[in-house]
Amino acid sequence: MRVSAVFALLASAAALAAQPASYDLLLRNGRIVDGSGSAWFVGDVAIRGDAIAAIASRIEGPATRVIDDGGRVIAPGFIDIHTHARRGLSQVPTAANYVRQGVTTVIEGPDGSSPVPIAPFFAQLEKLQKSVNIASFLGQGSIRDAVVGSTNRKATPEEIQKMVGMVEQGMRDGALGLSTGLFYVPGTFTPTEEVIELARAAGKLGGMHESHQRDDAAKLLDSVNETIAIGEKGGLPTQISHAKVVGVANWGRSVDLLRLVDEARARGVDVTIDQYPYTASSTSIAAALIPAWVLEGGRDATLARLKESGSREKAKGGIAMMIRDERGGGDPKNVQFASCSFDPSLAGKTLADLTKARGLAPTIRNAAEVVMWIVEQGGCQGIFHAMSERDLTRILRHPATMIASDGSIPVFGEANPHPRSYGTFARVLGVYVREKKVLALEEAIRKMTAFPAARLGFTDRGLLRPGLKADIAVFDPATVRDTATFTKPHAYAEGFSHVLVNGQVVFENGEMTAARPGRVLYGPAKK
Ligand SMILES: [Zn+2]
Repeated sequence: MRVSAVFALLASAAALAAQPASYDLLLRNGRIVDGSGSAWFVGDVAIRGDAIAAIASRIEGPATRVIDDGGRVIAPGFIDIHTHARRGLSQVPTAANYVRQGVTTVIEGPDGSSPVPIAPFFAQLEKLQKSVNIASFLGQGSIRDAVVGSTNRKATPEEIQKMVGMVEQGMRDGALGLSTGLFYVPGTFTPTEEVIELARAAGKLGGMHESHQRDDAAKLLDSVNETIAIGEKGGLPTQISHAKVVGVANWGRSVDLLRLVDEARARGVDVTIDQYPYTASSTSIAAALIPAWVLEGGRDATLARLKESGSREKAKGGIAMMIRDERGGGDPKNVQFASCSFDPSLAGKTLADLTKARGLAPTIRNAAEVVMWIVEQGGCQGIFHAMSERDLTRILRHPATMIASDGSIPVFGEANPHPRSYGTFARVLGVYVREKKVLALEEAIRKMTAFPAARLGFTDRGLLRPGLKADIAVFDPATVRDTATFTKPHAYAEGFSHVLVNGQVVFENGEMTAARPGRVLYGPAKK
C-alpha cells in the first residue's frame, strides 16, 4: 500500500515533468477591462514568459501559479505619457509610487527637457535594474540650450541646421518625438517657426510632438493655436500636455480650448490632450512667478537684475501680476512650497506663511518681494492652486484626453511633492469614475492604456490581447483610491492587488517584489 502510493506519486511527478505547465501564471475570475473601451467581461488571463498567452471566459491551465482575482478588475498596465521620472528612478528603481497605482510604463523627456545627446541616457537606463518600463522624448529646450544658450534671440540658419541634426540623431537613438516647454527658459525664447522646423524633422522619422504650452493663463488660446500649428505645419501628431486653465480670470476657457482642438481634429490635424486630475500645478517658484526677461541668461544674470533697483522694481510688478492673475491663484496662500534647497523646513508651508514669517503682511506686493528673496536664496519648487474643478472635469471628459501624472519618483518621505506622483491614476478611478461618475470605468482605462500606447506607437502593449506584453494592473473598483494629499503627499494609492510588468509580478500583498523586469522602450526610428 505504502509502496504503491509512493509509486503513484513518482509517476505523477514524472508526468508533470514530461508535460510542462502550459502557463506561467493564470489570473482567474477577473472583470476584464481590455483597454479598448469595450465593456468589461468576466474571464481569465493566462501568461507565458513576458506575454499574454490566452484570454477567455474560462482557461483550464495547467499553470505554474494561479491567482484568483475574485471579481477584481484586470486591466492593461497604465502608461504615463508625461513624467519627470528620471529625477528619481536611479534612487528608487522600483518606482513604487507609480507601480502601486497600476503604472507599468513611464515616459520621460517632458516640457522641452531631456538629456542631450540622449544615447548615453538610454544606455544608463538599460543597465539600471528597474520595475517599470521607460521611454523618452527629446527636449527642444535642452537642444536649444546646448546650441544657442539661454538667451532671448533668434537662432541662425546654421544653428537651426545643427538643432535639426540633433533631433534626427536623437530620433535614431530611440526617442519618441520632440517635447517643448515654451513656458520655460530657454524654450520661451523660441519663435514658433523654429519649433516647427525641429518638429518636422522628428515627424519625418515617425515621432510626435508634445507641448508644455507657452501660456496656460491669459494667452491660453494663442498657445493652443500654437500647439496645433506645430502639428499642422510640422506634419506630425501634436499633444497639449497637462492641459489646464490657470488663473481665476481665465476659468471657463476650457470650453474654447476644447473647441479649438475639435475644430483642428475636424480638419484632419492629429491633436490630442493629456491631463492630471488636480486643480493645482507644480514647477519651480522662479518659472511660475518670475517673468522670463528676469531669468534670461542664467542665475548670475537674474541675481544682477534683482540687485539693480530699477529692474528689481519692474520685476516686482511682474511677479505681483503673476501672483494675482496667473499661477499664484490670486493669493499668496495659494502658493505652497514643495521643497526649498536653502531651507527644507519650508516644505508644505505657503507663500503667505513665509511672508508673515519675514515680518510682512501677506499682501500680493509683499509676497512678490519674498519671491525675489527666495530666488536669491537658491529657489524652491512650488505647488500652485490656481485651477477650477469645472475646467478639470470638462477636459477630462473629452475623448481626445488621456491621463498623465506630470509627476516624478520621490524618495518616500522627502520634501512635500505634488500628490499627483502618488495618486493620479488611482484618483481618476476612485474620484472621477466611482464617486463623481465623470467617466465610465472602461473609458478611464482606455485613457490610461490603449490610447497613450497607440499615440506612442507601442503596438505590443496597452491592450489585453494574446501575444502582447503582459503589463497588467489588478485592482478592486470598489476600494481603489488615492490617499496622497497636498499636506500629506507621501501616501501610496490603495486598492491594487497585483501589478505585472513584462509577465513578472512586481507588486503583490501590499509590497513591491524583488523582480525588476522593466525595459527601455524605443521610438519608431531606432536603428
Ligand atoms: Zn510640464
